[in-house]
Amino acid sequence: MARVDLTVRGGGVTGLALAWEAARRGARVRLIERFRLGAGASGGLVGALAPHAPEQWTEAKQFQLESLLAAPAFWAGVEQASGLPTGFARTHRWQALADAAAVALAETRARASETLWRGRARWHVIPRPDHAFAPVSPTGLLIEDTLTARLHPRLALAALAGAVRARGGEIVLGDGQDEGRVIHATGVAGLEALSRATGQPAGQGVKGQAASFHCPGFETAPQFYAPGLHIVPHADGSVAIGSTSETTWTDPEATDARLDALIARARATLPILANAPVLHRWAGLRPRARSRLPLIGPWPDRPGHYLANGGFKIGFGIAPGLAHCLIDLVLEGRDAIPIPFRP
Ligand SMILES: Cc1cc2nc3c(=O)[nH]c(=O)nc-3n(C[C@H](O)[C@H](O)[C@H](O)COP(=O)(O)OP(=O)(O)OC[C@H]3O[C@@H](n4cnc5c(N)ncnc54)[C@H](O)[C@@H]3O)c2cc1C
Repeated sequence: MARVDLTVRGGGVTGLALAWEAARRGARVRLIERFRLGAGASGGLVGALAPHAPEQWTEAKQFQLESLLAAPAFWAGVEQASGLPTGFARTHRWQALADAAAVALAETRARASETLWRGRARWHVIPRPDHAFAPVSPTGLLIEDTLTARLHPRLALAALAGAVRARGGEIVLGDGQDEGRVIHATGVAGLEALSRATGQPAGQGVKGQAASFHCPGFETAPQFYAPGLHIVPHADGSVAIGSTSETTWTDPEATDARLDALIARARATLPILANAPVLHRWAGLRPRARSRLPLIGPWPDRPGHYLANGGFKIGFGIAPGLAHCLIDLVLEGRDAIPIPFRP
């Protein structure tokens, strides 16, 4: 008899969340990571778990909403099983409103959120509070949403690995043998492998650069968002900022003047960051499927093999939902994967 029911390839947030979900349900799990946990996009700094705007609703937006709503229980379960922190907290998010048109749009979205979010969280317009993380807003108003959360990517991966091991799962670094069913959660390398196997482009890596500051005192402050800039306070006294979005690059792991510009923008946006020292600079490749949607389901023409990829910019946000829905299929034969996500 096989010693393992399920092999998961890839030690990023997707693979680890899948391994945890399967181990939690009692499966015998082996996770194989070819380099080190967090070697890909998941080893970064930002950790914003932020919803799409409540408008032009799609199946993908509903999937992300369900995943964000499931996140508190999911990460609490990981912390409980591992005894390790993930840095998860639903700390909310603020966005500035530049003019009357922006306020009117925000009010429309606020009304839409009442139906779409079913009272589980709020998107509303508030007067700008007197708080160091409140962005300057020409209208004196901000959008506040109470769904947005944050977690610490590197702590979350360590806690997921601890939780998998606590339930008897194996984590293998380097070469490992596939046994049982196999889920390929291998990020950009997985998109390349799928492209080769099918002869059709499955997706590509999109480079992102991020940084973190040492800025204690704001551990529970809401995060800040403006197009192209997330500013996320973390529980360890760091404040992460992200991210660039680059479709061409020479070195996927190098940081450069684009990150310097982002750091300067963050310092200009929130004066408390003006003199805060930079702790880390980091770059990685986000796995973006051709559809720009998550890619989840059976690997075409490869019985017993499955794909979990395409997390792109929201891989941490959708990990609980993705793990739940793919493990439902792999272990229990229940298929509720949204049609647009299927390979
Ligand atoms: C700058 C930046 C900022 C981001 N900010 C956020 C954010 O705030 N919120 C959010 O939700 N998302 C964010 N993302 C996106 C998120 O990081 C990704 O969507 C997510 O990490 C993808 O996880 P993954 O596990 O699918 O892939 P990866 O993390 O890339 O993991 C794939 C792993 O598979 C391994 N692997 C490859 N081939 C094999 C093989 N054959 N066998 C075994 N292992 C293999 C790789 O070494 C790698 O460790 C950001 C990304 C970047 C780059």
